[in-house]
Amino acid sequence: MVTYFSEIYRGLLSLFEGMGVTFKEFIKPTVTVSYPYETLEMCERYRGHIELIENEEGEPNCVVCMMCQRACPSDCISIAGKKEEGSKKKVLTKYMLDFTKCSLCGTCVESCNFNALDFSKEYNLASTRKEDFYFDLLKRLEDRNK
Ligand code: SF4
Ligand code: SF4
Repeated sequence: MVTYFSEIYRGLLSLFEGMGVTFKEFIKPTVTVSYPYETLEMCERYRGHIELIENEEGEPNCVVCMMCQRACPSDCISIAGKKEEGSKKKVLTKYMLDFTKCSLCGTCVESCNFNALDFSKEYNLASTRKEDFYFDLLKRLEDRNK
């Protein structure tokens, strides 16, 4: 008989302890979001794929020096530029990134002396198609400014 009541007591104690933990967690601020309907803002040091930085006129800061392309150990970057008639500066005409090979090592960003490259905060990149990871960074910059 004593064993019977002691088991009931232990069961109730364990139930209330469990409910106490549930209640404590219930009143704590929520730390999860309802992805993909809600998204998180990435922290400052987060490394998404690289992105072109623009100047105040919305043009890329890139001067087509090719340093990032040469520095990339995985051969992810393909750049092209042209010189307008009468201009000394080259204009960027193509900046392709093959993100399937990128290790996010940051060598390209570090090698750029013109503040033209940075890591994006992009993380919504799930896909089953390899083609979805070939990025036209010049077009992305144009789309950002639309
Ligand atoms: S290193 Fe910078 S300026 Fe040179 S091509 Fe790359 S992004 Fe452009
Ligand atoms: S982060 Fe590294 S691997 Fe990726 S594009 Fe830049 S240099 Fe290449």
